[in-house]
Amino acid sequence: MGAWLPIAEIAAKVAAGELKATDLVEQSLKAIEGNKEFDAIIVTLASNARARAAAVDAGDNKGRLAGVPFIAKDNFLVFGADTTAASNILRGFEAPYQATAINRLEAEGAICVAKANLDAFAHGASTENSDFMTTKNPHDKTRVPGGSSGGSAASVALELAPFALGTDTGGSIRQPSSFTGVVGYKPTYGTISRSGVVAMGSSLDVIGPMARTVEDAALIFDVMAGRDDLDGTTIERDSAGYTGLSGDIVGKKIGIIKEYMGEGLDEGVKGVITEAADKLKAAGAEITEVSLPSLPTALAVYYILCPAEVSSNLGRYDGQRYGHHASDAKNLDQSYTHARGQGFGKEAKRRIMIGTYVLSSGYYDAYYKKAQTVRTKLINEFNKAFEEVDFLLGPVAPTTAFTIGANADDPLQMYLSDVMTVGANLVGIPAISLPAGLSENLPVGLQLMAPQRSDRALLELAQAAEGLLV
Ligand code: GLN
Repeated sequence: MGAWLPIAEIAAKVAAGELKATDLVEQSLKAIEGNKEFDAIIVTLASNARARAAAVDAGDNKGRLAGVPFIAKDNFLVFGADTTAASNILRGFEAPYQATAINRLEAEGAICVAKANLDAFAHGASTENSDFMTTKNPHDKTRVPGGSSGGSAASVALELAPFALGTDTGGSIRQPSSFTGVVGYKPTYGTISRSGVVAMGSSLDVIGPMARTVEDAALIFDVMAGRDDLDGTTIERDSAGYTGLSGDIVGKKIGIIKEYMGEGLDEGVKGVITEAADKLKAAGAEITEVSLPSLPTALAVYYILCPAEVSSNLGRYDGQRYGHHASDAKNLDQSYTHARGQGFGKEAKRRIMIGTYVLSSGYYDAYYKKAQTVRTKLINEFNKAFEEVDFLLGPVAPTTAFTIGANADDPLQMYLSDVMTVGANLVGIPAISLPAGLSENLPVGLQLMAPQRSDRALLELAQAAEGLLV
């Protein structure tokens, strides 16, 4: 048994007066204090969290998440501390309002205790692009926890809280979940409001839970999901909701993605994924191989469209309105250029340059427009695949957690870590990373995907599968 009960049980016990929110918050703060060497946490929200816990214990305890502590990636706007997105340019920025996702969790009694480290602005796959520190993998301190939600993933693996929030633009929930052995859920695009989350690539960004079990992740998703007037891309909830899952594997048609199982895939990872597919087959699933011929282009498409959107979204950080202000500027122009020059890290600058390049006149047609065309082709190929199978299966990443420093000076090598995750973002479909076993003592995640808006069906399959896998 781990440090925390299942989330629904914690809330039920708090409601019944058998557990105190105050004790749960102290347990979480103590765990954070005792695990500082992993550099998972940027800041705690101790005084706010204690005040909220006291209110829960005083009778405000009827919510579905009453007294449940959690950790938010530091790109969520939360009251009580700066929101930095792990970037120097946002140091000192205090949220004037909270993310819708945070408000919905709080309305059910959950308590945000801390903000987790990430690659600055969520650009990366290891947390090494954080302007503050690199998070260490709980399974091996010499290795990265993945990224960009590496602090959130490490927090769940270290049981600093029962769950954490991440964001996934090209794999940032799933890949760190795979690297640290936790459950990471990337829902259908639009199911959770992006209001109050630092924007990266707005047509790709989704929010999602990271937890120890599918049941916990589904409950957190259920609380956050649904239309929000503050985000016009949000969609209606599934009328059945996302809890009370009763999955069955028998008769489910699952396609193994051929393009993810070939060249470039680590042999140990391949072994774990093949074994997982065999277990699903033995449990009654119909396993076939499915080909998505344009999938090998997805990484290139992503690294055109994502920087294009990043360059636009980062335009607002001009040194006037948020965080860092250049004190050495002699005029307004310098105030902009110095603040951006000083405040943005290397990776943000790289993406701004790539993004503005692919959007510039003369190159727009050759890069941005072409990438959009291929994105549509990918959507069509996934739709076609989902006419034959109910779900798709593959690895989350080509390797297990890599050594700190191994890819840090080689952006292309770092980008390759995303080769199996960006497809789901480009197509907007739900995808989950489920702990599937170990390769050389390091966790390997199994990725399962479903058609858009089939979140409930995917979570049901994942819950049925998780018992079989490890
Ligand atoms: N690793 C990918 C990138 O660097 C994905 C990041 C994310 O999902 N936020 O863009």
